Amino acid sequence: MIKALIFDWAGTTVDHGSLAPVLTLERVFADSGIRVPHTVIRRDMGMAKRDHITRLLLEPEVVGAWSAAHREPPPADEVDRLYAAFLPLQMECLLRYSHVLAGVPEAIAVFRGMGMQIGSTTGYTRAMLDALVAAAEEEGYVPDAALTPEDSGAGRPSPAMCMAICRQFAIEPHECIKIGDTPSDIAEGRNAGMWTIGITRTGNMVGLSKADWDTTPADEQRALLEKAETELLGQGAHAVAESVAESLPQIEAIISRSTHDERP
Ligand SMILES: [Mg+2]
Repeated sequence: MIKALIFDWAGTTVDHGSLAPVLTLERVFADSGIRVPHTVIRRDMGMAKRDHITRLLLEPEVVGAWSAAHREPPPADEVDRLYAAFLPLQMECLLRYSHVLAGVPEAIAVFRGMGMQIGSTTGYTRAMLDALVAAAEEEGYVPDAALTPEDSGAGRPSPAMCMAICRQFAIEPHECIKIGDTPSDIAEGRNAGMWTIGITRTGNMVGLSKADWDTTPADEQRALLEKAETELLGQGAHAVAESVAESLPQIEAIISRSTHDERP
């Protein structure tokens, strides 16, 4: 019996292509004279932002560029400086990119009609998520729960946020489907013992704005979708969907599996 759906934010329910965090992280490093490719920034997307910056400072491409620019590897306290610079920059551009994705409010209404509670988790801070929740409400998306790494003590891939939502909803992890657009979303759901669905077209793995997606040739679109599907399924996703608006068949298939006593 599936009783709740737990959605990610950027790239899943808002922000087509998960652009706001990518552009902000790119700018924070650029301000330090380091050019970090989007592919590198997207690799660990979905983690708590401080953890993500810590991880980026260990990426070979970043260490190499840093050493070339500063004649030494990044100092140990660099994460503190970059994170302090990141926070106001992310707040500044967050809402510009974070519109609710097409079809999400309508899909959520259908899921509620099926008896689902709606939870959400993120890599954003509490202050950022508060701004996001208020803006999403204006556009018709209001989850029953919205947790950040700060609220539950750890970000993805820790299951802490998902477990806290289970307690709030008074349900078991195997009664939930975690839905998100990054490998860290899938790891979070699997670590919690939940069913998981990976989101491809609107998310981080394709990484394109709606306008850029619409002007991408069909064969390239297909290749981008297949690559995203492979990566999310490889991380252990039980199913993939192109968007939340189109995820009903995958949700119904998992409901059917769970009613036949299958566990995630
Ligand atoms: Mg996301």
